[in-house]
Amino acid sequence: MYLPQPISKLIEGFMRLPGIGPKTAQRLAFFVLTMKEDDVLDLAKALVRAKRDLSTCSVCGNITDQDPCHICSDKSRDQSVICVVQDTRDVIAMERTREYRGLYHVLHGAISPMEGIGPEELQIPELLKRVSNEEVQELILATNPNVEGEATAIYLSKLVKPFSLKVTRIAHGLPVGGDLEYADEVTLSKALEGRREL
Ligand SMILES: [Zn+2]
Repeated sequence: MYLPQPISKLIEGFMRLPGIGPKTAQRLAFFVLTMKEDDVLDLAKALVRAKRDLSTCSVCGNITDQDPCHICSDKSRDQSVICVVQDTRDVIAMERTREYRGLYHVLHGAISPMEGIGPEELQIPELLKRVSNEEVQELILATNPNVEGEATAIYLSKLVKPFSLKVTRIAHGLPVGGDLEYADEVTLSKALEGRREL
């Protein structure tokens, strides 16, 4: 099928996004053609800005447009608790609960021998540096409730043993095998509330 190059390029672009197959890509591309030029420009600018202006926080690894991020620099937050999550999206999920007022540490993944991801691929040295600070008293391991997340939690709990700090794991009740980011606020709040010491 012949398509003018600008549209076929646009379809190709959409197809690189996760969860978007050829049909959806085509529908989106043709939709863009019906949009007002200003709206298309806004969208294009938002894409470029998100990529250009965001980086990872040098303290916690969260995505941010300022370093340290707004959570790390917020002195009203409880500096004695660090909640360890796999992904930036998990921070957003935790923040949605409005229950948690401590700090975060984003690992950027979980240990997975199947996928060849070892501890050295994750933001673990940065975490160790943070827990060696005496101000930190509790580490909440909020990795996903699946095999990789559990393995990572166990690995971390052993690793931080030498530091005198309370290590807790968020409670089950989260859908097993699921991702933290898809849990609703109530489930996540309950999981946080029911965390147990490791
Ligand atoms: Zn941060």
